[in-house]
Amino acid sequence: METVNRRHFFTKTFALGATLMGAAGLHRASAEYLTGVETFKLPPLPYAYDALEPTIEAEIMRLHHDKHHAGYVRKVNAALDEVGAVGRDLVDILKNLDSLPADVRASVRQNGGGALNHALFWEVMSPDGGGEPAGELASAITETFGSFSDFREQFSQTTGGVFGSGWGWLSVDFAGKLFISKTPNQNNPLMTGYVERTGIPILGLDVWEHAYYLQYQNRRGDYIDAWWNVVDWANVALRYSAALRGEMIADPIKA
Ligand code: MN
Repeated sequence: METVNRRHFFTKTFALGATLMGAAGLHRASAEYLTGVETFKLPPLPYAYDALEPTIEAEIMRLHHDKHHAGYVRKVNAALDEVGAVGRDLVDILKNLDSLPADVRASVRQNGGGALNHALFWEVMSPDGGGEPAGELASAITETFGSFSDFREQFSQTTGGVFGSGWGWLSVDFAGKLFISKTPNQNNPLMTGYVERTGIPILGLDVWEHAYYLQYQNRRGDYIDAWWNVVDWANVALRYSAALRGEMIADPIKA
């Protein structure tokens, strides 16, 4: 029964998303990849490998999606299969990692995190991205951080400060408030017990070296500065609306 309700919710979310994105000139909702399926599937890139050039070059996108992201999806499936835990939505799993047997918990956190984080990452970027958010999200950013440029500076600084591999995030907490955070490795803000502040991520920036080193080498700051040119604020706004209802959109909505 719970599964039916959840699927119904996602159907409604996608319908809403499709309507809003129709207005924004984007595409319709896609099939399910990380929710409502027995075995997770690699979500497609919603644009060509070279679509984000010159911000991110094609060779990085090809390796990052086809090798790294594919590997996370394959390995989380293997770990869940090992303990007979296939069939649950990935978001539910990552929110409740302690519900898994201890011997696969680390693998599911790392690879399940990698599967979900990258699914979000491709979606919140677009060749038509950049600029600033509009509407409800813009108001919330101004209210929380003072201005969009203050937000951008704080996010860049926090993300640039990740030691080693990890991510920077904009999330919505359970009181509906926006916050910026960073996580090591493939952890994300859903992972209660593994993060300082728990919430629903709506924007994420991958600062693992595999995300930029071929093009930017050690200049992580230049990668972060350039990345703002491809952020798809219409997509982030849809995620914000869902997060205010307590839901994370896990499957692609524009692929
Ligand atoms: Mn990555």
